[in-house]
Amino acid sequence: MEKYDVVVIGSGPGGYVCAIRCAQLGMKTALIEKYQSLGGTCLNVGCIPSKALLDSSEHYHNASKRFEKHGIKTGTLEIDFAQMIKRKSEVVEQTVAGIDFLMKKNKIDVLRGVGSFVSANEINVTPEKGKAFKIETTNTVIATGSKPNFFPGMEPDKKRIITSTEALSLSEIPKQLIVIGGGVIGLELGSVYARLGSQVSVVEFLDKIVPTMDETLGKELQRVLKKEGMKFFLEHRVEKVSVKGKVVTLKAKDKNGKAVEMTGDYCLVAVGRKPYTEGLGLDKVGIKTDKAGRIEVDDNLKTSVRGIYAIGDVVRGAMLAHKAEEEGVYVAEFMAGQKPHIDHNLIPGVVYTWPEVASVGKTEEQLKEGNVAYKVGSFPFRASGRARASMDIDGLIKVLADEKTDEILGVHMIGPRAADMIAEAVVAMEFKASAEDIGRITHAHPTFTEAFKEAALDASDKRALHT
Ligand code: FAD
Ligand code: NAD
Repeated sequence: MEKYDVVVIGSGPGGYVCAIRCAQLGMKTALIEKYQSLGGTCLNVGCIPSKALLDSSEHYHNASKRFEKHGIKTGTLEIDFAQMIKRKSEVVEQTVAGIDFLMKKNKIDVLRGVGSFVSANEINVTPEKGKAFKIETTNTVIATGSKPNFFPGMEPDKKRIITSTEALSLSEIPKQLIVIGGGVIGLELGSVYARLGSQVSVVEFLDKIVPTMDETLGKELQRVLKKEGMKFFLEHRVEKVSVKGKVVTLKAKDKNGKAVEMTGDYCLVAVGRKPYTEGLGLDKVGIKTDKAGRIEVDDNLKTSVRGIYAIGDVVRGAMLAHKAEEEGVYVAEFMAGQKPHIDHNLIPGVVYTWPEVASVGKTEEQLKEGNVAYKVGSFPFRASGRARASMDIDGLIKVLADEKTDEILGVHMIGPRAADMIAEAVVAMEFKASAEDIGRITHAHPTFTEAFKEAALDASDKRALHT
């Protein structure tokens, strides 16, 4: 029986990054993946394909809605949706091939099949075809990720009532797309189809969209998306979604208990994701999951069983690729006897709509709840010369700083290229910068990042220069 120092189960961004770091640190490493294609949710049916379609649809949107104002006439525009989906698939294939290469380069044994525990040090690998076999290991890292969630009455048939996975590979552009859930997936994939001409209706249970982010961001995003034609039905409780032929009907109750009915040709269910542990044989080693199905881990990502760790979407915390990656590196370094560190408060969150939304640290609601005395500074993009030049004047940057020490406690952005700009806030907060520090750092002119400096000046001393 082949013996390894570490076996990683699951090849998503948590698992494959963990395997690379283990190999870099000199451990004999195997990576088990049940699908042929490495990369997990993120590379195959998540981050990468969704961003490919967001980019394609944004090009179309700009060409049809904005080029003329820039003085560019395009004539009649046409969407080749099959080509759009084909390009997305090619981006995925290239990205996945890159992971195969990285595994070879780092001499990681990739074992294709379902990994399940026989005991704490023995794992069974069952390939789709061929015979199952066992391997021996000193340590195991569970990185089995998550799957789309749904509630009774909205069970996806994967044809008309779809999850994000199907929404990334449709054969036609929906005429009327109903989206259940005004969270990250609902708004990103809703944006893709709204830009391509679908009438998109978002049905959300709560009274706000992107509810986990600072409230200012959700309000501004809803305002902009509404302007672009998306409809929002907040505080609606979905009761039943049904399909007859090509027509999907959604029945819900609004906040006053009034019955609401809407129809469409597709309904995207985007009400969160659930941790995935099926077939792992956790019972064989006595590992328990919590009420939400997550594997319980301590601060070092150790499970209750010696030598078994768990990372990424299958454990508590944000379900984000970069969080899974950081945890993968953490566990590898911890197993190698190092003293790694992750500050989960400083994991940024991004929504890739346009304008983009990005956030790090505490929200204003969290600071209020924690009775923290804070100062607020903000700067609207309409006051930025760079934003006017590119016609991206929606949105703002908000900086929250400690009332006494001026330390930055949270940064919340909605606007052009916020996804990339949030990195400056993360660096600043990792180094415990004050709002005044940012206000005194030179930011190139004209750039969108000047809005961060101005918001910091506003937070630190109410002395923004351009408002
Ligand atoms: P996963 O990526 O889910 O990988 C788990 C892997 O384990 C899978 O390949 C699975 O097949 C395998 N596996 C499971 N059980 C077994 C077993 N018993 N044996 C062998 N293999 C097994 N996050 C971001 O940060 N940015 C984004 O822009 C973003 N966009 C997203 C868009 C969409 C549409 C979706 C659905 C998600 C998006 N996410 C994004 C979230 C991101 O994809 C996840 O947070 C991330 O993939 C989690 O990584 P992971 O390694 O924990 O698990
Ligand atoms: P989410 O948690 O972001 O949003 C789910 C939304 O559905 C919430 O607003 C919630 O209030 C609502 N909801 C829940 N039950 C409902 C019901 N019965 N009726 C109506 N609304 C209901 O989840 P998601 O959008 O499905 O995304 C899943 C995960 O994938 C998220 O944790 C996210 O972090 C990750 N993801 C990240 C990115 C990114 O980083 N850009 C992109 C896509 C997905």
